[in-house]
Order: sequence, then structure tokens, then C-alpha cells
Amino acid sequence: MKKIWSLLISLMSALMVASPTSAKSIDDYAEESVPRLSAYLKINTINPPGNESRGVDYLSKILDSEGIGYEMVESAPNRGNLWARLRSVKPTRSQEALVLLHHIDVVPANRSYWSFDPLSGDVKNGFIYGRGAIDTKGLGIAQMQAFLALARSGEPLKRDLILMATADEEAGGFYGAGWLKDNRPEIFKDVGYLLNEGGSGRLFGSEVAVMVEVTQKVPMWLRLTSTGRPGHGSAPQTETSVTKLVRGLKRISETEFPVRVTDPVATMFEGLASYQQGAEQAASANIREAVKDTNFLLETKLKNPAGHALLRNTCSITTLEGSSKINVVPAEAHAELDCRLLPDQDPDRFLEELALIINDPGISIKKIMSFTPAVSRTDTELFRAIERVSEQFFSANVIPTVAGGFTDSHFFRDMGITSYGYSPFAFGPNEFRGVHGNDERLSVEQLKRGVRVYYELLRDFTVAR
Ligand SMILES: [Zn+2]
Repeated sequence: MKKIWSLLISLMSALMVASPTSAKSIDDYAEESVPRLSAYLKINTINPPGNESRGVDYLSKILDSEGIGYEMVESAPNRGNLWARLRSVKPTRSQEALVLLHHIDVVPANRSYWSFDPLSGDVKNGFIYGRGAIDTKGLGIAQMQAFLALARSGEPLKRDLILMATADEEAGGFYGAGWLKDNRPEIFKDVGYLLNEGGSGRLFGSEVAVMVEVTQKVPMWLRLTSTGRPGHGSAPQTETSVTKLVRGLKRISETEFPVRVTDPVATMFEGLASYQQGAEQAASANIREAVKDTNFLLETKLKNPAGHALLRNTCSITTLEGSSKINVVPAEAHAELDCRLLPDQDPDRFLEELALIINDPGISIKKIMSFTPAVSRTDTELFRAIERVSEQFFSANVIPTVAGGFTDSHFFRDMGITSYGYSPFAFGPNEFRGVHGNDERLSVEQLKRGVRVYYELLRDFTVAR
């Protein structure tokens, strides 16, 4: 009897989960996204230290409630990662799988500069408030709800679909995406496509342009060490580790690396031209000509430093370290540089160039971190699906863009996976300020619509017809 009961129960629950006639619709999943994001924002996954396993625990409960299997792994204590796979129907199994990626960790928030508790998850005045609302728990919930709705629809898939949540993106991804790539390569064996943070719709007046990030400037983080004779602060020497370092840094700070408009950057500026006006529009439409004018470059640097950074290699001097005591001349002084290279820059050539600029054999340069450059193509089925959905929801053109910053996408581009930065949201000019800044929030409408946009995109790209 007991056996029959348990059989009945498991049969019933299987029916409840898998039945395509189940009453829950995409509208229900869109509604449900709001409390789900609110709850997700309350979970403290500030990195450092991350504690992403708390987020994994939360997401796994949602998957449990929908009867969807998943796997999870900790790359280090409390550094959780999770993935769930919807299988395609057998005969068309050969189509490459799609990964939906978001990161669980968020950057720290300084409570004294916020007008609310960064971990409140409050829903009021049409917004959901909290650190990570945009970067990237909001995206993660939109992906999750669309993924669940598709699973619930029972529609046959022509390719596998993988929902993935990872740790550590905000500190380089080495306990998250990078770790999975190295330690769980089997997940990615049949993966051809990946959607991640890094691009979204943007409002220009009343028009929307959907920006899809296809490549990034390549970070090269460097540590400079200058050595010299130590001594007492009361007896200055002609040259010390500190004076040498300061001179080297001055040379770097006064250097403007040559301007070079790469193809993806030109495509981006040209694509954005129709959303601009006057001289700005003319310059964007013909950016290769415009950059020959030094006034234009200077103006761009002042008004739009992020846009300017796409036109040349750059180095920011970010950390400095000399003596720990005011009257001691140190034997060593250090500085760190955050350099960002154009996607086609040979990193070794850049290092040689930098050494020539510093022009001091007493200063050594050590690479702390550097990635390989890669660009994702736009002549793909996935890009066309994004174009169709963007037209449908926003009457928007899709513009391939280059990011000045980096995301986890580079790990996957390295593996030959076509990776796009794409969020199903359309942000106004001021809505983006909260990312890594104060008072991060996402509008309820934006999130609910985002679930529907993402659902249609997934149907377009993965359902077998
Ligand atoms: Zn992020």
C-alpha cells in the first residue's frame, strides 16, 4: 500500500511539473519575478568575501519548487556555483547549446551614501531596491523565470538550454566562471552560445537601441617595482626608489597612446549615430575621420571618458606604495597600473612600448593579470533572434558594442563560444548610475517586461518547430 501511494504521489508530481497544459503562464512567471528578485537582493553576497553558496541555496529552492534538476559545486568554501540543463529532443541533438549566465556576487555598498539599506530588497514606488538589482541579480531572475516558463510550456527544444549562476565575477571570476571552465569542462562540451551581462537596451529620447556587447577591451594589470638605496629622511639622496617611481609614473601619465579605431568600435559608433544629433552625429557616423581632430578627442575625453577609452589603449595609475614610516626612505616602492588594451593589441608589444616610456632599468614591470582578446561574430542565428525580439518589443535596432570594462564573457570567448552581453531591459539615461554606485534599483515594469522579452528570445532560439 505504501508503495502504491508513493508511486501515485510521484506520478502526480511528475504530471504537475511536466504537463504542458499546466495553468501557470508567462504572465505568472513575470509577476513572480518581483518577489523573487526582492528576496534574492536580501541575501548578502557582497564580494569580498562573496558567500555565493547562500545565493545557490536560494536559486536551488526555486528550481526544486518547479521540479527541475540542477548541479552545484563550491570552488572554495562558500563560493557556490549552480547550473541546470533543459534537454533538447533527441533527433536534433546536434544543435549547439545556449548558456544563460549571471553572477551571484555583488560589489560592496557604502550604507552612508545610500538612501536605503542596500540589502533591503524593498519594493516601493514601482522599483525593487538593493545592491545587485541591475548587476546582476535582476538579470539572473529574468533568466530564471523565462527558463522556468519554457520548461513548464513543455515545448520541444532543438538545443540544450543551461541556466548558470556563478561566483566571484566582481573579483575576476576565478572562483566562478573561470573555475568552471577549468574544472568542469564537460558542461561546455556542446555549448556554442552564451548570454551574459554587458549589454542592454538604452533609451535615446523615446527611441530604444539594443546594445549587444561582442567584445571588450582587454585588461592588463601591472605592478611596477622601483628599487634604490634606503636611508634616513633627514639626509636626502639624489635618487631613491620613490623618486624613480614618481618620475616613471609621470611619464606614463603624460603619455597618450596612439588612437586606433578598430572595426568593432567603428561599427558601434556608426550604429549609434542615428540616435544622436548635429556635430555629434556627424562625428559618430564617420569616427575614423573624426579622431584625426585633436579637439574632438579632447572633448570626447572630457565629456565621455568611457567612449574615449574605446579609441586607444589606456593605463590608469591606481595604487601607490612607498615607505610605511615618514622618516624612512624605502628600498622599494610600488605602483599598480590598470591598463586596458584594444581588442587587437598584441600584449607583449604593449609591454615593450610601456618599458620604453618609463625608460628606467631600475623599475621592473610585472604582469598581475591579463586576458586574451576575442571578438564574437554577429552573423549568427542568436544575433538574428535578438534582432527579431528587439524589433518586436522595442522597435529597436541592435547595435554590436565594445565594452571598456570586462565581464566573465572572455572566459567563454576563449573557448570559442559565441558570447553576447545582453540584458532584456531598456534603461533610460539615469537608470544606470546605480551599477557599482549608490541606490541601485530596477523598475518593476522593467523586470516584468524583461521576463517576457527573454522568454520570447528563448522560444525563438531554442524551440524545435
Ligand atoms: Zn556584473
